[in-house]
Amino acid sequence: MSQFDNLYLCPRCEHTDLLHAEGMICDKCGFKHCFVAKHISSSDRRYWVDIELNGDAWRKEKRVATMVKQHLPKDKNITKSFEKLVSQMFATLSTNKDQIDSYFPEFTRDYKRTTGKRNKGWKSSKPNLRQGRAATRGLLFEGAFNRILSEHDQFQPVFTPAIMLEDATLWEELKSNGEDLSEDHLEQAYDETELIYFEPDGWFLYEGQKIPIEFKTYGEGGLVRKNFLKGFSQSRRYASLSDTYHGKNPNHYSALIICCPEERKFACVMLDERIEKILGS
Ligand SMILES: [Zn+2]
Repeated sequence: MSQFDNLYLCPRCEHTDLLHAEGMICDKCGFKHCFVAKHISSSDRRYWVDIELNGDAWRKEKRVATMVKQHLPKDKNITKSFEKLVSQMFATLSTNKDQIDSYFPEFTRDYKRTTGKRNKGWKSSKPNLRQGRAATRGLLFEGAFNRILSEHDQFQPVFTPAIMLEDATLWEELKSNGEDLSEDHLEQAYDETELIYFEPDGWFLYEGQKIPIEFKTYGEGGLVRKNFLKGFSQSRRYASLSDTYHGKNPNHYSALIICCPEERKFACVMLDERIEKILGS
């Protein structure tokens, strides 16, 4: 047991405090679905702080844009708008290096201890299942990304996984009848096997649309075609699912942000079904 073993983490305000005997309510903001907190290794964290402190400014990786050039959504403005947001975020990181310690989180969410049995439906690639410096990289940069964008009106963070029914027809029916689709109600009223859990890394808001964002970090040497293709595929996972869920992604867009802190490069792309031509599915 360490001093960090009995804390909760509020995904909304990032408050950490001693776990309550019952309930997962945040003492600071009242959010009802906190997680058991897991401390991020200080030495791994230090490694990535130093990479930022000593690194050059972030710059754009151009190969991703070249790969997708012929397969982008028709609406060029949405692509531009997303690229602007992401470029701003990396510019903020570059110009505020000395604040990097405050952008990086110290804790992450321990899904396993929070949910007990309910582990399988959760995003399996979540970094808490992996170990070491590479896992820490994803947690820290994803955290920084959330903190930098948290006040931006084109970004909405994701605090807990979204829950919907596997049966899309029934889901649409319940939705149009205005029935209670809150997470609490769904978990009480339905069996686990009837539910789908999904969790984008954030939502991009654009003219009434709500588009899932996938955020991926790579280690040195990881900015290669094979990984880009994998990132595109991963970003497509929630494209149509999110529209069924909230009805605000009729064009089935999905957004992807890629970065490699050691190489100081980032890329981002807005995708629709056109990209599937090069995904070989
Ligand atoms: Zn809170």
